[in-house]
Amino acid sequence: MKVKYIDRGIGFRVKDTIYLNSALKQHPELHKAILRHEKRHTTGYAWSDVIMDVSNKELKDVKRDYYKFILKNPKSLYNFLPVIKIGKYWAIDLTLVAFYSIILAGGILLWILA
Ligand SMILES: [Zn+2]
Repeated sequence: MKVKYIDRGIGFRVKDTIYLNSALKQHPELHKAILRHEKRHTTGYAWSDVIMDVSNKELKDVKRDYYKFILKNPKSLYNFLPVIKIGKYWAIDLTLVAFYSIILAGGILLWILA
């Protein structure tokens, strides 16, 4: 498994490479928690990945640092896009795709019913 540092997002895993925001190096505890989380992901798309992202146990102890990091590093918000381009790859976050689809479907339903 390789770890590469980029200037956006927080942490992603694409196949056997983990991409971390280089600013995480200044936050050792958060860095450790994010890396641990990404390492636990499967290399593909599995239910266990979705469950992991929803429960997010690894980040429980560093939640404060996590949100502070997002506020201080606006580019980390890239992590909340369902699709992101990393190098020449497009990474799709199925959890977020499902999440936004539910919100969109709810919006359409409200619009139809109103
Ligand atoms: Zn995750």
